[in-house]
Amino acid sequence: MSLTLTVDGDRWRAHLRSVADANPGLAPVAKGNGYGFTLGRLARKSQWLGVDTIAVGTYDELPHVASRFDGDLLVLTPWRPFGAAVELEPGVAGRVIHTVSRSSDLDDLLGRQPDARFVLERMTSMLRHGLSARELWSAAGTLAARPHARLEGIALHLPLAQGSHLSEVSRLLNDVVAAELSTRTIWVSHLTSDELATLRTSYADYSIRPRIGTDLWLGDRAALRVTATVLDVHPLERGDAFGYRGRTAPKSGHLLVVSGGTSHGVGLEAPMGDSSIKARAATLARGGLDAVGFVRSPFSIDGKQRLFAEPPHMQVSMLFLPDGPRVPEVGEQLDVRVRYTATAFDRVVVT
Ligand SMILES: *Cc1c(COP(=O)(O)O)cnc(C)c1O
Repeated sequence: MSLTLTVDGDRWRAHLRSVADANPGLAPVAKGNGYGFTLGRLARKSQWLGVDTIAVGTYDELPHVASRFDGDLLVLTPWRPFGAAVELEPGVAGRVIHTVSRSSDLDDLLGRQPDARFVLERMTSMLRHGLSARELWSAAGTLAARPHARLEGIALHLPLAQGSHLSEVSRLLNDVVAAELSTRTIWVSHLTSDELATLRTSYADYSIRPRIGTDLWLGDRAALRVTATVLDVHPLERGDAFGYRGRTAPKSGHLLVVSGGTSHGVGLEAPMGDSSIKARAATLARGGLDAVGFVRSPFSIDGKQRLFAEPPHMQVSMLFLPDGPRVPEVGEQLDVRVRYTATAFDRVVVT
């Protein structure tokens, strides 16, 4: 019935443990769809790992994790003087570490809550959020006059690795050192273990805390399997009509109705294995099915990705299987290729 994520529990937990052991000071990131696992499950797993802090993406995500993890809650979206950031539940407010990325927000936050806990985000080459070197320096002045403010570190959000981050990070950390702030904690993302090791040696009096999501939760893909259920199988003769659009079968075969549609994040454009112009020209020449408008789906039967019969529906998809390969039975499970961070599974089963 369902689009299911099945997790090999022993293998997954062993991987989580090894990432945590290799990354002292790890802050697991639990945001969005919980990388496919749900936020609540990631919060419980973080509790099991024994970390002292997790990072959520937004203030709105706090209620999903706050009752399942009892440590500190770092919010990655910068604090702003409006919206969810200023509507915190009093019960969790003391565990929340805000991210401050503008000088005016620092004044505003401390004006409202003099003992607020926060990290100062330094702008990186990402150019998403953050303070300039000059603003960091002026924040040090602001904080000197704010004895109750609780600066919990400096945050750097780095682009996904394209070569080494080390020269950029060193330059940014030199700004941090020069600002003479009262913290020795640096929160970073997207550094390799070699880069982390080098930083820990070069800035030995700082504690470098990696925020990791993808490589933690999704780092061992062999522990994960995504399956859809075959819900119906209908034989088709060439010319038979089917689907919302009354399309006709270009040859005889079977129509398969499988679980997994747009509401799960199943998209029309599946990752194409071989989408080069040459490969497409070859299928056109052979009169292949994609020449008559069928698009490859992320569902596979016996190891081969099959074609959508029409665009995915809300909760199911229709596949066209031409005569030839084995026809699966109702109830059978099919492998599905998904983007974990963009998929809403009906079920997550941890074995
Ligand atoms: C999402 C995010 C991370 C984690 O990124 P992954 O690639 O999933 O490890 C770290 N830091 C910030 C600020 C983020 O938004």
